[in-house]
Amino acid sequence: MPLRVVTGSITDLDVDAVVNAANSTLLGGGGVDGAIHRAAGPGLLTECRGLGGCLPGQAKLTGGYDLKARSVIHTVGPVWRGGNRGEDAVLASCYREAMRIARARGLRSIAFPAISTGVYGFPKTRAARIAARTIRDELKAGEEMEVLLCAFSAPDAAILQAALDDLNEEN
Ligand code: ADP
Repeated sequence: MPLRVVTGSITDLDVDAVVNAANSTLLGGGGVDGAIHRAAGPGLLTECRGLGGCLPGQAKLTGGYDLKARSVIHTVGPVWRGGNRGEDAVLASCYREAMRIARARGLRSIAFPAISTGVYGFPKTRAARIAARTIRDELKAGEEMEVLLCAFSAPDAAILQAALDDLNEEN
């Protein structure tokens, strides 16, 4: 399966790129962002300082530094404001733009955290459906790539797996 769920810290994954759910400064934060910066070491922050931030729904590539992953694709998810402020479209754009950067660079494996579902407050089931559908559509459009949805807990993994199962039933 080119698209599957794994459970654990995204910082442990040996992939061409891990996606970071960053904030728009790209200068680090809490949650998965903090974990990635801690594991990557100070070189990552130095490179991020030169990027000039990132808008919600967009994505930017850096090196992976001390991570096992060769690179990091930083994206900025939407802050949940009730669901009628374009949140779905911005979240889909995060997955799409990260996939496009990976494909443009010839990367063969990429791992995503559940973008926006932590402090940004996006409902997890709704976010998982958007992630699954957007990645599936991008996989259809391009080269063979291994895509991992990285859940930080078993309950989160079940939510992501259910979204993948629903998608497969539609096919
Ligand atoms: P956001 O600001 O986009 O909501 P968070 O980092 O607060 O980002 O949370 C996004 C998701 O990442 C949450 O589901 C959270 O449980 C998860 N997460 C936190 N740390 C890690 C990690 N080390 N590896 C993978 N996922 C993580």
